[in-house]
Amino acid sequence: MTTPCDTLLTEVESDVRMTAAAIGFDHLAPAVSDALRRVPRHAFVAPAQRDLAYANYPLPIGSGQTISQPYIVAIMSQLLGVGAGDRVFELGTGSGYQAAVLAALGVAVYSMEILPELAERARITLQALGYDQVQVRTGDGWLGWPQAAPFDGIIVTAAAPRLPEALLDQLKPGGRLVIPLGAPGGNQELALYRKGPAGAVTGHNLLPVRFVPVTGGLGRSAPPSDKESSPP
Ligand code: SAH
Repeated sequence: MTTPCDTLLTEVESDVRMTAAAIGFDHLAPAVSDALRRVPRHAFVAPAQRDLAYANYPLPIGSGQTISQPYIVAIMSQLLGVGAGDRVFELGTGSGYQAAVLAALGVAVYSMEILPELAERARITLQALGYDQVQVRTGDGWLGWPQAAPFDGIIVTAAAPRLPEALLDQLKPGGRLVIPLGAPGGNQELALYRKGPAGAVTGHNLLPVRFVPVTGGLGRSAPPSDKESSPP
């Protein structure tokens, strides 16, 4: 019998073939398609959205945020080039679905979510499904998770106006960063960066995507209060 998840996988594979020239591969790695097949996407969406859980598009998850389109989750996971035993930092836990897909690949995931209510819900979902290798922390992911660094891969799942320096610092030599770069509101470019053995970072844009924006301080410290600023 064909399940909704089989149908979804067929659609994702078809999108991958159609965008092969941009993303650099024309089929999903077996480990990635297995991971997508194993993670129950319906557990990461609101009950009212369950019927749409295996459709190949993003869905609202509350607080103005979205669970990414399965095709995007699939290609970002594959672009990271990670596998069993690797460590990944994720900026933007959202529903926890992307983190679960990485965990299904055998990766230890350190995921940061700025909205406490989403972090809490993702934690509960991931725990209920037994994804023990995912740690979710509430906070501003722009500065990464230095205590758990360095990482084999870093995935940013919200639109970033520029490359986050702190995250590049927390990437291992040989590691990869996958990030939607560009102004929020319109399209961004999904970009893949690699850190070379000597620490040099190179990267390129792959394809236009659309993500909700990175919020928070973007690495800037809070502006000085009136008391601290010098008189005019
Ligand atoms: N990966 C998610 C989808 C992410 S949507 C999933 O699989 O469902 C983007 C998420 O990034 C939102 O939940 C948003 O609240 C979060 N976010 C935005 N700016 C952030 C920041 N500075 N630090 C951590 N999370 C952030």
